Amino acid sequence: MNTEQTPYPALLINNEALLANIKQVKDLCQKKGISITGIIKGFNGDLEEVKQYELAGCAQIGSSRIAHIIDAKKAGIAGEFMLIRIPMLSEVDLLVEWADMSLNSEPTVITKIQETCVAQNKRHGVVLMADLGDLREGFWNPEELIQEAIRIETELSNVDLLGIGTNLGCYGSIKPTKEKMEELCAIAKEIEDKIGHKLEIVSGGASTSYPLVLSGDMPSGINHLRIGESITIAYDLKEIWQLDDGDLRRDVFTLQAEVIEVKDKPTHPVGEVFVDCFGAKPTYEDRGIRKRAVLAVGRLDHGGDDKLIPLEEGVVMVGSSSDHTIVDIEDCNRQWKVGDVMEFALTYAAVMYLTNSKYVHKLYI
Ligand SMILES: *Cc1c(COP(=O)(O)O)cnc(C)c1O
Repeated sequence: MNTEQTPYPALLINNEALLANIKQVKDLCQKKGISITGIIKGFNGDLEEVKQYELAGCAQIGSSRIAHIIDAKKAGIAGEFMLIRIPMLSEVDLLVEWADMSLNSEPTVITKIQETCVAQNKRHGVVLMADLGDLREGFWNPEELIQEAIRIETELSNVDLLGIGTNLGCYGSIKPTKEKMEELCAIAKEIEDKIGHKLEIVSGGASTSYPLVLSGDMPSGINHLRIGESITIAYDLKEIWQLDDGDLRRDVFTLQAEVIEVKDKPTHPVGEVFVDCFGAKPTYEDRGIRKRAVLAVGRLDHGGDDKLIPLEEGVVMVGSSSDHTIVDIEDCNRQWKVGDVMEFALTYAAVMYLTNSKYVHKLYI
């Protein structure tokens, strides 16, 4: 810990819970013939957590940021590393130097990877992305994807065509369904017929595709997933999908914040309501005078109070500014006072922000 860092806000990181979740997801996938890339971007590649993925023996460790991969490799973490954001042309040098494989959708970049591999005397694995409707990365036209696969296979000496993949449930909120997975398998089949051998990777997506594994609906042609959130947060499966997640642990990350004010105050602002500190015009419900606490943590740290889930009985999120978070504590049995520490469970976005804040004290338990 930096000596000038305050003890709070603190992010409690439970690596035992993390390891248990990685093993559980990995083992269940393995039973269905699916290997996984453990995705570390959700906690900014923090090394203590990345080590758990190495321990659990994921097929690969992946991130959208090459910096996370470089840090992990410099720290001596062993294994295969995958860049999962399609690479910038300007990072291809680093990509070839540090990562074993990457997701790709642009022939120009793949050509640059080939040239860089030759220059660095290396090989690099490529997974071609198909856009099946979510409208972020990937070939829109399957024919173009197939042509690119053949080009890699026949013309590029140092680039290995590892397989194909897709990403759903991100920008376009498209649900990964059995049908979408079968679409991907059909493209894989066509490529395999043309190149005369099996593809090593048919990657059916991210955590949003994991429910298909749990429900038993994942087509057998899908043999790979890239899992971040289901392992680190494990929230959606029960709540959104109503699936038995086998009791994945929810306590991998916990936020602790210190109470800096406790007062009874009106719930409706007093005076002429104009704009808040971020230029928005929120509405306020008048619930009379209620007990409120102010916490020394803010949007700069957690990204927004809607991303926190109070663990204390009766606490309700009210709002936040850059450096303050306000909670309603009127219905708490506990008598909160200044200096007390309040705990919150976290969403994916909150963990992403908190692990990236230099003001948040990381505590490994
Ligand atoms: C972020 C990301 C993942 C992992 O997503 P989770 O929802 O955290 O499982 C997988 N693939 C790609 C391309 C991503 O960008």
